[in-house]
Amino acid sequence: MSDRELHCCAATDANCRGRQHAEPDPSYRSQYQRDRDRIVHSAAFRRLEYKTQVFVNHEGDLFRTRLTHSIEVAQIARSVARALRLNEDLVEAISLAHDLGHTPFGHAGQDALNACMKDYGGFEHNLQSLRVVDVLEERYADFPGLNLTFESREGILKHCSLANARLLGDIGERFLNKQQPSLEAQLANLADEIAYNNHDVDDGLRYGLITIEQLREVALFDRHYREVNERYPQISSRRMVHEIIRRMINHVVVDLVETSKQRISQSGANSIDDVRSAPGPLMAFSDEVREEMTVLKRFLRANLYNHFRVRRMTQKSVGVIEQLFAAFFEDPKIMPPQYQEALHRETPGRAAESGAVQRARVVADYIAGMTDRYAIREYQRVFDPSADS
Ligand code: MG
Repeated sequence: MSDRELHCCAATDANCRGRQHAEPDPSYRSQYQRDRDRIVHSAAFRRLEYKTQVFVNHEGDLFRTRLTHSIEVAQIARSVARALRLNEDLVEAISLAHDLGHTPFGHAGQDALNACMKDYGGFEHNLQSLRVVDVLEERYADFPGLNLTFESREGILKHCSLANARLLGDIGERFLNKQQPSLEAQLANLADEIAYNNHDVDDGLRYGLITIEQLREVALFDRHYREVNERYPQISSRRMVHEIIRRMINHVVVDLVETSKQRISQSGANSIDDVRSAPGPLMAFSDEVREEMTVLKRFLRANLYNHFRVRRMTQKSVGVIEQLFAAFFEDPKIMPPQYQEALHRETPGRAAESGAVQRARVVADYIAGMTDRYAIREYQRVFDPSADS
């Protein structure tokens, strides 16, 4: 879709707020296509293949990884963007990059690293995703990071503490001024939620941690369960599960398109600036669907994320992160050479950091960049005397 065909509130090349380091415009691509391409070619993007959200990577080949999750988010977000005439390239770039800063071992790994970093500025995965694209990727001669557009960076930084927002300049302003990000950023965030809720149901069933009978207490699931079973009484359970999940995703996606379309038109917004200064997000689910999604999330928290087998994995991975952090912080010379060099690097926006804070940050960057299996191997190399170093 060319800029002219896009919705008046969409992000376009014409209203793009540009890049941190000035560059010539791309020849045959839009600004956001260029961002998307840079993300796809980054090392952090490839590592998503071996990072997980709930299950550890080696547990099975069929489970989602952060890579397949990011592709699913991009797919959902692009469908909605096209239906609303928003910028598909931007929404795709944000979706593919949204998890780049995630630690190994999903949420457990991130909480563990945040606890390790408590006295050194903490660890936020959204902020780390921004740090990956702004600083940590080393691919271009003229600038650090990927030098993405303001709009992609704004979308990647979904949340952020006020203290950190103050250090971030223009990209942190909206948290201080209580402004909204672009519609594309709002959309990527909601597509993320649709994707993980539904694939956690799928993976949880496949892994045998939750059952269809249990899920029937969730209205969103049960309604589609009954529909599918009435229409296809002979259906195999595998097809039934996929048919239910497909319908659940479709239901919330259609709701998102219709509710958002209405909210955008009722708001009277005529430009991306109007979107940014609106009192709240214009992309949203209806109240009914929001409530149903909340019930599903509550179910997953109680029955899947807190399942004893998931908790065991969580417990082990917390130990891996804590011990690696302590060992590297104690003696940074046991980290690979490029991280020792990073100890002396000036970090934009964090010039005041030095000594222990800088050291902790470099250790956190190293650990956050690890895949699940790399972290486990590194743990063996550092702590197991019989393992290769
Ligand atoms: Mg995600």
